[in-house]
Amino acid sequence: MMTKQEPLIDDEYTGEPPAKRLLAYLQSQREHGLRIVGIYCCYAPVELIRALDLVPASLCAFSNATIEAAEAVLPANLCPLIKSSYGFIMKDACPFFAVADAVIGETTCDGKKKMFELIADRKPMHVMDLPQLPDEPEAIDDWVAAIRKLRGFLESVFERTTTDERIEAAIRETNVKSRRLNEVFEYAALNPPVIGWPELYDALFLAQGASGADLAPILDGMLEKLEARKRDGYVYGPKGAPTVLVTGCPVGGDSLKVLHIIEEAGGVIVALDACSGMKPYAALIEEGTGDPIRAIAARYLKIPCSCMTPNDRRLTELDRLIEKFKPDAVVDVVLQACHSYNIESIKVGKAVQDKHGLPFLKVVTDYSQSDAGQIRTRVEALLEMCRR
Ligand code: SF4
Ligand code: SF4
Repeated sequence: MMTKQEPLIDDEYTGEPPAKRLLAYLQSQREHGLRIVGIYCCYAPVELIRALDLVPASLCAFSNATIEAAEAVLPANLCPLIKSSYGFIMKDACPFFAVADAVIGETTCDGKKKMFELIADRKPMHVMDLPQLPDEPEAIDDWVAAIRKLRGFLESVFERTTTDERIEAAIRETNVKSRRLNEVFEYAALNPPVIGWPELYDALFLAQGASGADLAPILDGMLEKLEARKRDGYVYGPKGAPTVLVTGCPVGGDSLKVLHIIEEAGGVIVALDACSGMKPYAALIEEGTGDPIRAIAARYLKIPCSCMTPNDRRLTELDRLIEKFKPDAVVDVVLQACHSYNIESIKVGKAVQDKHGLPFLKVVTDYSQSDAGQIRTRVEALLEMCRR
């Protein structure tokens, strides 16, 4: 049975939305003289940013509060992540955008690309040309060229340069961070798990911006507490609860309703496979190649986003996650009007059901609460199937 446990990250932000902790971190970085670069995607090569003594900050927004303002300009049938992010900027209400000294975008989905055009006059901005056929032989060269171009942009805006040695050091730091986070994920893979999704989510949110060095003591503390939980026989969630892997679009803020509903319906989420979850840490960047930018390009090109075609790596990664976390069911969260994740859900559902024999539920949602009732009913039916 679950008993009350000490929070895994025990600080003044415990119990607060994780964005507060990250924002405080970014502000402290600024006070130490570091400059901030806003990013919108996992394809933004953070090692290059860090090698220039800059700090990356995700600008993806997850609040319903700014959607109405955004819809005065953007079409209503657009992904809420794009509308929310744009709405915050329109209203001058995004503290992350406010602290950013420059912004990086990528040519991922059409909605984001066109939104970038609308905010391009607000801050120095660079849009990276992301190859979307990752298996074509020229893709790697094109992506290397795009990363080199970004380097030129950042060096010019921030009037500084970096070296291959510094980029190599940033790669090593990312790898240490990824390994440590994967050690934390192991505690969700235990049967029964000893860590819950809100705790995983807190750590992952902070990891978006915190350097490996700053994150290390936090992860060390988490690992110590998790080991103690395991030793003490602590179980996260109700005993024998069905376990769930959540895949799909990035989630946060108001779209976390889906994760809350799964938990309230008696499920335990053991894996978060999205860019807001474990995906960025699924593989390491090759070290010591002599060409660190190419090593970064090779790793990033393998990120299995639905903007890629074909995106078979998503299914391979799903196989790995199902093998590791052994969920009883898979929930695919698709944000409304995200066509690529929506269409790809057909393949994901087929793989989950036919190959792994697991119940599968696709949830298309936005940031409002209007569909919470029907999501709850469908999640309850899914978990009921697991209990039979
Ligand atoms: S889902 Fe795709 S577009 Fe969105 S953050 Fe991840 S990699 Fe970028
Ligand atoms: S969730 Fe889909 S539509 Fe929305 S920003 Fe990401 S890739 Fe684009």
